[in-house]
Amino acid sequence: MMSSVTESARPELINLLDFDREGLKAFFVRINEKPFRATQLLKWIYQENVTNFDQMTNLSKTLRSYLKEHCSITAPEILIEQIASDGTRKWAIEMSCGNHVESVFIPEDKRGTLCVSSQIGCALACTFCSTARQGFNRNLSVSEIIGQLYVAQKRLGQKTRITNVVMMGMGEPLLNFNNVVAAMNLMMDDFTFGLSKRRVTISTSGIVPAMNRLNDVCDVSMAVSLHAANDGLRDKLVPINQKYPLKELMDACREYAKQGPRKHITFEYVMLEGVNDSVQDARQLVKLLKDVPSKINLIPFNPFPNSNYFCSPHEVISRFKDVLYKAGIVTTIRKTRGEDIDAACGQLVGKVKDKSRRNLKLQKMGDTYAT
Ligand code: SAH
Repeated sequence: MMSSVTESARPELINLLDFDREGLKAFFVRINEKPFRATQLLKWIYQENVTNFDQMTNLSKTLRSYLKEHCSITAPEILIEQIASDGTRKWAIEMSCGNHVESVFIPEDKRGTLCVSSQIGCALACTFCSTARQGFNRNLSVSEIIGQLYVAQKRLGQKTRITNVVMMGMGEPLLNFNNVVAAMNLMMDDFTFGLSKRRVTISTSGIVPAMNRLNDVCDVSMAVSLHAANDGLRDKLVPINQKYPLKELMDACREYAKQGPRKHITFEYVMLEGVNDSVQDARQLVKLLKDVPSKINLIPFNPFPNSNYFCSPHEVISRFKDVLYKAGIVTTIRKTRGEDIDAACGQLVGKVKDKSRRNLKLQKMGDTYAT
């Protein structure tokens, strides 16, 4: 059965997946153990895949029995798996209290990218986003965020490595700041997955104060969901713009790009037919980004029921790209992946909510599910 790692997860137990290395060190010091126990434990959990405390042979017997009594290693559970013909996998992952989030694995030639969720639902009402329709439920804990990587890697097996993580699933990661930062630090820890900081990307709708705060505590790559090059339109598409308008957002981007090895910000721009896809829009975008080190990722709109938008035609996207390219901005068009599964973010979980679990069994693949 694909399930929580420990059979007897009890809520009163301390879930050790909730700690990054610093948090674990502090935990061990609190129970009168040496801080280096933290790295030993991380190795057992994330590298050796051992979750039975009895098998953690370099821990003293006393410590093992303490951990058995007071702690658990509890990851969330994969409830549904969909595999597209291009190898993209989408999972609905069950969190405590019966809530669900989505994680998507996108295999490419030289890398494998996992798209991770940070919240159940989302409080930001971006008008073209399917998650927004569900409203906000709650923040995910550290164990629920790192747990997505943990169960995904386990499910994929040793041969298919997750090399990149993008915090582009459900939710606004910067509105769950502490848990997201701890989980990202864990992903990059040499004793866990050891992901390079260039290969971990946080995507934000532009929560300016949190972007500035992130600058001080974490060194990951940043993607900003821009989608419009003027305040009038962005106020409508990404309503948080009313609070943090483009001038402030661009200042925060410039600051963030200055630090460390990051050098540029990736701007995401969803292509909505007749809304933000004209040549004039592209020129305005060039102007807006003229002194921000930028790359642009044009995202073909992913339709969902009653979305009220259409994706710009291919020629329009190409024309838009040409304007940016001629202005010297590195621009990519995101490849649509997993077209034969519920590709748009939030759609699979929408189904989990809409239908009874009995109906959902029809979608479950092979041995991925056991009741
Ligand atoms: N809250 C974060 C992460 C969200 S999703 C953020 O706003 O960045 C990641 C990206 O997918 C965002 O750029 C989001 O605007 C975009 N997106 C959401 N719904 C979409 C859809 N239906 N089609 C294409 N892109 C979409």
